Amino acid sequence: MANPSILILAGDGIGPEVMAEVKKIISWYGDKRGLVFDVSEDLVGGAAYDVHGKPLADETMARAQEVDAVLLGAVGGPKYDNLDFSVKPERGLLRLRKEMDLFSNLRPAQCFDALADFSSLKKDVVAGLDIMIVRELTSGVYFGMPRGIFEENGERVGINTQRYTESEIERVARSAFELAKRRGNKVCSMEKANVMESGILWREVVQRVHDEEYPEVELSHMYADNGAMQLVRWPKQFDVIVTDNLFGDILSDCAAMLTGSLGMLPSASLGAPMENGRPKAMYEPVHGSAPDIAGQGKANPIACILSFAMALRYSFDQGDEATRLEKAIEKVLADGVRTADLMGPEGGTPVSTVEMGAKIIEA
Ligand code: ATP
Ligand code: MG
Repeated sequence: MANPSILILAGDGIGPEVMAEVKKIISWYGDKRGLVFDVSEDLVGGAAYDVHGKPLADETMARAQEVDAVLLGAVGGPKYDNLDFSVKPERGLLRLRKEMDLFSNLRPAQCFDALADFSSLKKDVVAGLDIMIVRELTSGVYFGMPRGIFEENGERVGINTQRYTESEIERVARSAFELAKRRGNKVCSMEKANVMESGILWREVVQRVHDEEYPEVELSHMYADNGAMQLVRWPKQFDVIVTDNLFGDILSDCAAMLTGSLGMLPSASLGAPMENGRPKAMYEPVHGSAPDIAGQGKANPIACILSFAMALRYSFDQGDEATRLEKAIEKVLADGVRTADLMGPEGGTPVSTVEMGAKIIEA
């Protein structure tokens, strides 16, 4: 059987810096664990624009459709701020998401004990936290028609439409239930069924998918505003949260900050199952290209490395190896190794991107 395939799109800014550490870890898996990946690399974002005049070449797009997983660094930077909208670096990323139809966005909020003091919340609220937010990514109010700014009765009106079809809700619900089965077996679905028609349908469809296909998973429903409050009050009550595009955008940023630095947060975007039964997938750190620290060797590579751990778990059926990698990160943090973004007010000497990567491999 062919080796599992990965397409690396490191992108711009700190993207290539953090991805360099992931590449070393991928090699380590081949050398030390006999887990050999077929790795190819290509350009995305500003780096692709510089060469091709657009942020994602067609050949790159075609390759992304073939591989088992895409690993993406980050795109964008001040150099590209004044480009036409159609060729902006971010458009490369949006094209990947759209053409691969990555409708389910997974954002874990996991708190490493060593960083529990780092959260804005009390230590006992976040220590040991491990939840997953599943955000619908390709529909909802960001895409629904009609949309635009129109003239009406002599003034302008801005319109967006929240729109969800049953099948769109079904597929993201399934993805949340499947995840829950591999985790804490609990899903909380969030919407505003009290005031929104799309919320009424959302609740009904999630309940039906549950009753017909996943009766063994514990399901609860919550209004999204209450959900936001509960997330900050006592996040450990949740395991998997499934919600729409807009609420997911807000709730996942909120959950992210429970755990500390942007430099720690991975994500996965999954689509429909391919012929081999695994979902189309792209993995990327939540953070951006961080132009303010790019090229200085300061970036924290952990978000990108944890994104690769998610790939091991969700694209390559290597959950034990993913755990091995997460444990190594936990150990390094427990040993007090910190990149600059993880330094508290008490200060200390931060390690570089490369040193952090090396410590993780050593662990
Ligand atoms: P984007 O629009 O691409 O999402 P952004 O405006 O949200 O980008 P980021 O590029 O994510 O911003 O950076 C936000 C801040 O967080 C910056 O000060 C940056 O230096 C810091 N930051 C982001 N990622 C990391 C990282 N991996 N390590 C250290 N600091 C980081
Ligand atoms: Mg951002």
